[in-house]
Amino acid sequence: MAGKGLIVVISAPSGGGKSTVIREIMKSGDSRYAYSISTTTRVKRENEVDGRDYVFVSEDAFNKSIETGEFLEWAIVHGNYYGTSKKLVDAMLEDDKIILLDIDVQGGLEVKSHYREKALLIFVMPPSLEELEARLRNRKTDDEREIAKRLAAVPTEIECSSYYDHIVVNKVLSSTVDEVAGLIDKRYDAMMNLEDE
Ligand code: 5GP
Repeated sequence: MAGKGLIVVISAPSGGGKSTVIREIMKSGDSRYAYSISTTTRVKRENEVDGRDYVFVSEDAFNKSIETGEFLEWAIVHGNYYGTSKKLVDAMLEDDKIILLDIDVQGGLEVKSHYREKALLIFVMPPSLEELEARLRNRKTDDEREIAKRLAAVPTEIECSSYYDHIVVNKVLSSTVDEVAGLIDKRYDAMMNLEDE
């Protein structure tokens, strides 16, 4: 696992704002960044593009990929399967990229156990449960049952966040983006200095 690549896991409760944070960081145009596109069995939302937001597959296809060992990690989240492509991440690592993974806490801990010091885990915490619920409703992508499922997962997610390297409270989006980018830079620089020694 030599090289200058770094894996950055960003997790948050659903509606916590992590996808926006990742999108903003990717928009910065810094060529060191790459986004790991996950594979999922979830139904595609209206605003999503296959191959850009996720690779959308059937459960049969997902199970085959599990059997052939294509996933670096995979998990069932809110009743759907999600997985990170090993091939994609390894290719990006070879390319010395800072790889952003928008994955849940189960996946985050799995990545950490695999990649250890090559992985940085950041948890984006909503300012309050009320605010999280309001954001889930405002984005109008999920029905009431789906929202309830996502809210029910929050306590376990927060519990797992204690194993993360950093917790960033997402009060103001622009500050959160700066804070997350700053943490990544700091870790990247520390890794570079270690490799120079
Ligand atoms: P959504 O359906 O809202 O896009 O995502 C639901 C949850 O699945 C989010 O917490 C997201 O971070 C997580 N997720 C997305 N891709 C992956 C993946 O490849 N692995 C794991 N473990 N979780 C993922």
